[in-house]
Amino acid sequence: MTYELPKLPYPYDALEPYIDARTMEIHYSKHHAGYVNKLNAALEDFPDLHAKPIEELLQNLNAVPEEIRTAVRNTGGGHANHMLFWKNMAPGASDKPSGTLADAIVQSFGDFDAFKDRFSSTASGHFGSGWAWLVLDGSGGLKVLSTANQDTPLSDGLKPILTIDVWEHAYYLNYQNRRPDFITAWWNVVNWDQVTQLYETFLG
Ligand code: MN
Repeated sequence: MTYELPKLPYPYDALEPYIDARTMEIHYSKHHAGYVNKLNAALEDFPDLHAKPIEELLQNLNAVPEEIRTAVRNTGGGHANHMLFWKNMAPGASDKPSGTLADAIVQSFGDFDAFKDRFSSTASGHFGSGWAWLVLDGSGGLKVLSTANQDTPLSDGLKPILTIDVWEHAYYLNYQNRRPDFITAWWNVVNWDQVTQLYETFLG
């Protein structure tokens, strides 16, 4: 058993003009694939761990043997984070959440625009490489936060439903240093149906 790079749910050019095909191709086929390959190499001598979903290892990093813990945190995080990121996007998606998630966002942030502002400023203000997230906490409330490098909120007992990659490799070819412009464009391709579905799955 080895971890596999899942097929991208749309062609490389599907998210243009917001995310260009070249960025998608390199991001998916080099960066994400690289994390999967390094994760498999790190776990080569640990077949028991290999059999588990990567999210399960990240939820309990202390149970991972110390000699490969950092590798699982970094490369396993890289694998899990990118899987969510690809699924969170789709061409021609609806521009707002609906139903239960729309209500929960209003309850936690006041209104949708206030949530969007909070998420965007968290993503643009994150120092260095990392990710911004919308997560469910233990009591079912929604929170916005960012993590460094490939760290995931899963490791803090939270349930991530929406994420944006703010590593420079996610936007530099098209947006160079203008991370806020990438974030503004990214809202156009958020797949709210998928985010809502994930939210409802986590609520149970
Ligand atoms: Mn990335």
